[in-house]
Amino acid sequence: AAKRRHSGVAFASETGAEPAHEQLSLIGDMRRALAAGEFTLAYQPKLALGTGRVVAVEALVRWQHPERGSIAPARFIPFAEQTGFIREITPWVLDTAVRQAAVWHAAGLDIAVSANLSTLDLLDPHLGRRVRGLLERHGVPARRLCLEITESALMDDPALAQAHLDELAGLGIKLSIDDYGVGQASLAYLKSLPVDELKLDRSFITAITESPRNAAIVESTIMLSHALGLTVVAEGVETQAELHWLRAHGCDIAQGYVIGRPMTAAQLQDWLAAFVP
Ligand code: C2E
Ligand code: CA
Ligand code: CA
Ligand code: CA
Repeated sequence: AAKRRHSGVAFASETGAEPAHEQLSLIGDMRRALAAGEFTLAYQPKLALGTGRVVAVEALVRWQHPERGSIAPARFIPFAEQTGFIREITPWVLDTAVRQAAVWHAAGLDIAVSANLSTLDLLDPHLGRRVRGLLERHGVPARRLCLEITESALMDDPALAQAHLDELAGLGIKLSIDDYGVGQASLAYLKSLPVDELKLDRSFITAITESPRNAAIVESTIMLSHALGLTVVAEGVETQAELHWLRAHGCDIAQGYVIGRPMTAAQLQDWLAAFVP
């Protein structure tokens, strides 16, 4: 079936038309999955290009469904956002990510953990209090946590977003603009927010070494970001050529399959031990 824009999109390709009771059953299924521990987090390394050190990992949710197998977040996160169920997923994601950050902190690993927020999360008036509580409960320094927020989430209600970001930044956690370049936000607007990091969308990185136009956009975005005091992360880096280009053009951090795929916490520890920059 063709991909549809509205709720039901999550499994449309599997079952074709998605009647209302199917959608309800999907929410029920997600709730059951959360309780049953079918959601896990995979961690993908963020490599500092200047030092060759892995400075952070991004936590990405995974759903291991008993019958449907592994379900990618692109297939259920949009549905969870539309139905509001994301309000139940995000607290689990944050708790799990901060717990894991505590384990690495205790093990002496100097690695920050990033988690993704959705628009609804950013509108939640209790988000700041909740994040502070988590950090305190698990004994994690605030600078070890980074929250990634898409441009579109910020543009939904800019005034409220600003207030909530100020509160989060006040805790000392890092804030990152995700998928930068695909939305409408200007760097000038973003600079008025207390953000530390800008993640260039994968679409700009793809074919960076082939398209002079992409290269020019990325190059000028890196320069402008630095002038504004922002750390630049390139996401979706898939080739050595892209990696070399980004390093040569002053990009701070790279993330992508050529460096490391998202993996379990246990796999990441082995991967780190074997990693040679
Ligand atoms: P994102 O935040 O932009 O995450 C990056 C996505 O690109 C991840 O897909 C990652 O596995 C993938 N990726 C990383 N490196 C490469 C590469 O070199 N090439 C390619 N082609 N892809 C790469 P994933 O894990 O399937 O997640 C997709 C999206 O789902 C995320 O995009 C994010 O928007 C959302 N998402 C994932 N986990 C969460 C979560 O815990 N909460 C929320 N709200 N959204 C999440
Ligand atoms: Ca992200
Ligand atoms: Ca992204
Ligand atoms: Ca993306």
